[in-house]
Amino acid sequence: MTKSCVAAASPAFLEAVRQIVGKENVIHSAAELLVYECDAYTLEKSPPTLVVLPNTTAEVAAVVRLCAQYNLPIIPRGAGTSLSGALLPVDGGVMIALTRMNRIIHVDTRNRRALVEAGVVNAWITQAVKSHGLLFAPDPSSQSACTIGGNVATNSGGPHTLKYGVTTNHVLGFEMILPDGETVWLGTTPDGGEDVTGYDLRGSVIGSEGMFGVVTRVLVRLIRSPQSQKTMLGIFESVDDASQTVSDIIAAGIVPAALEMMDQLITRAVEEAYKFGFPLDAGAVLIVELDGLSAGLEKQSQQVIEICRRNKARDVRLAQSEKERTDLWKSRKRAFGAIGRISPNFLTQDGVVPRSRLPEIMRFINATSAKYGLRIPNVFHAGDGNIHPLVLYDERDADQVRRAIAAGHDILHKCIELGGSVSGEHGIGVEKISFMEAQFGRDSLDAMQSLRSAFDPDKRCNPHKMFPGSKRCSDFSPRRQAAV
Ligand SMILES: Cc1cc2nc3c(=O)[nH]c(=O)nc-3n(C[C@H](O)[C@H](O)[C@H](O)COP(=O)(O)OP(=O)(O)OC[C@H]3O[C@@H](n4cnc5c(N)ncnc54)[C@H](O)[C@@H]3O)c2cc1C
Repeated sequence: MTKSCVAAASPAFLEAVRQIVGKENVIHSAAELLVYECDAYTLEKSPPTLVVLPNTTAEVAAVVRLCAQYNLPIIPRGAGTSLSGALLPVDGGVMIALTRMNRIIHVDTRNRRALVEAGVVNAWITQAVKSHGLLFAPDPSSQSACTIGGNVATNSGGPHTLKYGVTTNHVLGFEMILPDGETVWLGTTPDGGEDVTGYDLRGSVIGSEGMFGVVTRVLVRLIRSPQSQKTMLGIFESVDDASQTVSDIIAAGIVPAALEMMDQLITRAVEEAYKFGFPLDAGAVLIVELDGLSAGLEKQSQQVIEICRRNKARDVRLAQSEKERTDLWKSRKRAFGAIGRISPNFLTQDGVVPRSRLPEIMRFINATSAKYGLRIPNVFHAGDGNIHPLVLYDERDADQVRRAIAAGHDILHKCIELGGSVSGEHGIGVEKISFMEAQFGRDSLDAMQSLRSAFDPDKRCNPHKMFPGSKRCSDFSPRRQAAV
C-alpha cells in the first residue's frame, strides 16, 4: 500500500468538518479508511485522508468550501463500483461520499421525469416508477449497487443502451458543487426550465469522472416501459458463429434492446455458481432481447431465430415466462460475481471494436490468454462491440500481476489498432492514463485540460486521473517494477 502524500487532516480541519456534518458522519480512523482504499479496480490501493458523509447539498457545499480554504483535494464518491480506479485517492484527500443522500425527491409521471439525490442507487428509480409503466433506461450490470452520481460521472452504459443510449441521453440536468464551493444547476431545471441555448455544460460534465465538481441532485428522464418483450438465448459452438450472428442481426435492420455475449469460460462459471441450465460445452451464448409494440415482435423474433440457426446455433431458447426472462438477465448480471468461485482476482477490460471486428478481437484475446498463461473469460455488450475480457490472476503472485497488466495492455492496444477505443463505459480512471495520448493525441488532450481548468483551475477535484503525467499509486509502490 502507498503512503498518502497529503498530510493527515489537521485537528482544526477535522473539528471544522465535524461541525458541518456531525461527528458521526466523518471517518478518519486508519482501520475504517481501509474500506475506501480502492474501488472495484483492486490492482491499486491508497486510502483517503478522511471520508465525509454529508446529508444535504448545503453540507456538501460547506465541506467543499472548507477543503478549498485548506487547499485539500476532494474525491466525490458514489458506491465505489468503478472498474478503472476512477475513485482512487492516489495522494490521499477528502473523500465526499454521497451514499447518505439517497432520496427520490419527486417523480413527475406526467412529464416523465424524476428528481433524485446523487446517492440514489440506479435500480431504485425503475423500482419506484414501474407501477406507472415507466423506467430509467441506463442499466449497468452493477445497477443494484451503483449510484446515479457515479453513473453521471462515468456516463454509464448497460445491456439495454444498445437501443436506448447511455446515461447522457437520460439525464436532463443536475445540481453540482464546483470545487470552490459554489452551487450551480446545469441543464434542464427541476421546474422544467429548459437550458437549450449556449454551451451544453451538462453534457461536458457527464463522463468527467468526478473531476469537475460534486453532483448532488439529478433530474433524470423516464421512458415508457415497452409493451412487450421477447428474450432468447442462442447457444453456439463457437465465438465466431455467435459474433457473426451479432453482425447479421444488425445488418438485417433489427435493433434489439440488448445483445449480450458470454463465452465458454464465463458460461461455465455462471452455470456452476447459479445453475441456470446452460450447457457446459457451448462455445458461446448470446442473450438477445427484442422489445416494442406486440404487433410485429413475433415476426422479428422468428427472424432472429432464423439468423441464429443460419449461423449454426445448436439451440435457441425463447423465454416462456417473466421468470425465465428474469433468470436469463440474472445470469448475465451476476456473471462478474461468478468469477469469485474460480479466481481470487480479476482485471476487467473495457475496450471497444467495430462490431465487424468482434471475431478478430476474440481470437486475439484467446492468443493473449495463451501468451501470458492466464485465463480470460469474456462477457460483454456484443451489440455495441464493447468487450469485457476478465483477466484472471492472483494478487499474491507478483508475476501473475505483471502478466495480467501486460495482457490487458495488449488487448487495449489491439482495440485501438482495430479502429476502436480503450473504454466503452468504465472510463479512464488511473488504469488507462497511458493510453490517452494514443487514443486522442496531444491537441485533444490539451483542449480537455482547458475545459477541466474552467471548472477546476486548481486541479484539486479528483486529481491524478485521466491525463498523461498524472500520478498513479504504482508511481509510489513496488507494483511499478512489476508492471510493464
Ligand atoms: C460487477 C460490475 C458490473 C459493472 N457493469 C457496468 C456496466 O454494465 N456498465 C457500466 O457503465 N459500468 C459498469 N460497471 C462500472 C461502475 O458500476 C459504473 O462506472 C458506475 O457508474 C459507478 O457508479 P458508482 O456509484 O459506484 O461510482 P464510484 O465508483 O463511487 O465513482 C466512479 C467515478 O464517479 C465519480 N463520482 C461518483 N459519484 C459522484 C458524484 N456524486 N459527483 C461527481 N462525481 C462522482 C467518482 O469520483 C469516480 O470518478 C460495473 C462495475 C461492476 C463492479
